[in-house]
Amino acid sequence: MDYFRYIDNRLHCEQVPLDQIAEAVGTPFYCYSQGTLERHYDVFRNAFANARHLICYSVKANSSLAVLDTLARRGSGFDIVSGGELERVRRIGCPGSRVVFSGVGKSASEIQAALEQDILLFNVESHGELMRINTIAGRMGTTAPIALRINPDVDPVTHPYISTGLRRNKFGIPHPKAEELYRLAATLEHVQPIGLDCHIGSQLTTLEPFVDAVKRVKQLLIKLRNQGVAIRYLDLGGGLGIPYDTHEIPPHPERYAQALLQELEGLDVTLILEPGRVIVGNAGILVTRVEYVKDGEEKRFIITDAGMNDLIRPALYDAQHTILPVMRRFDREEILADVVGPICESGDFLARDRILPEFHPGELIAVRSAGAYGFAMSSNYNSRPRAAEVMVRQDRYAVIRPRETIQQLFENEVLFG
Ligand SMILES: *Cc1c(COP(=O)(O)O)cnc(C)c1O
Repeated sequence: MDYFRYIDNRLHCEQVPLDQIAEAVGTPFYCYSQGTLERHYDVFRNAFANARHLICYSVKANSSLAVLDTLARRGSGFDIVSGGELERVRRIGCPGSRVVFSGVGKSASEIQAALEQDILLFNVESHGELMRINTIAGRMGTTAPIALRINPDVDPVTHPYISTGLRRNKFGIPHPKAEELYRLAATLEHVQPIGLDCHIGSQLTTLEPFVDAVKRVKQLLIKLRNQGVAIRYLDLGGGLGIPYDTHEIPPHPERYAQALLQELEGLDVTLILEPGRVIVGNAGILVTRVEYVKDGEEKRFIITDAGMNDLIRPALYDAQHTILPVMRRFDREEILADVVGPICESGDFLARDRILPEFHPGELIAVRSAGAYGFAMSSNYNSRPRAAEVMVRQDRYAVIRPRETIQQLFENEVLFG
């Protein structure tokens, strides 16, 4: 449930009409509902209330400081995948004890920075990384708490680009090799294996793959404990899907939690969960203005001032974002149309072959479910400044990141010769 809805046929974020923000801030802009963010976090947390757990929101889904701060104040920890994200969570005052570090390519300087922050857990993805962490921790005179990320070879049945738990994916340590690597880790002086981790993919819409993965890692955990490796943390990653403009209704966090907890009954372990999309996805929208409408030979093109540099998900994952008029009217026809951006690529679309109301130039359009992997994946392609970000709380709003200026695009560039 989210707080984007029509009041008198005007789309609002909480109690603020979106056209009012558009007038003040310009378009395109991302708009986040703080109440929705908090609600999604609370629903997720409450689902796990009966289990010892730590929620580590996945920073990469939306790393804006105001979003992170909102969740930190709710008690959230964070799952980071880079030194930049480490610095983001440090800036909002989150202690290292609530940070886990995932990712296949941690650099030496990122590992050192994370050790300096005393993070809770490194989710280690290879033999090479294990050895590197051991060396760096040794040089710093410390010990790194680690989990191995297991690739359980489970099909998450999602878009191939966001599937991570299959044998052919680059992620994690192959399930059959995990025991041996834990044995090695246990002999290293500067790492301490205290956790087990897996994350099989994103935008999962059924529970079976999660349950299959848990079954596999649970068996491994028990085996390891029998061999004297004291695993205290079980990190089950993120990946729970959200409803986009499709007929797929993903399971509610309550059912997700029940399914996981049922499998883990009796296992004395602290759970770590790394939700991203399910917290922030439907807490944000992208508001854009129609520049032109033109009729192609087969269909109509609604050309907006937001493009794939602002929201790449439709192009990259064939994502189906619901398109809504900011001002709703009931007297218009429906037509077959593409909503496209100004970028010089045919992949630059926000929606393709959609039945939509007849939009006119100057009108405002809301692209729903844009809170996750929206702004965070945006770029300056075509030398376009990145969009503004706004956060709403009840009847107030603030710009949490001003629109980039053209001037800012050149700030780090120099001529050669
Ligand atoms: C991306 C990612 C997540 C979050 O995934 P969502 O689908 O947004 O919940 C969690 N853990 C890891 C390791 C990730 O890479």
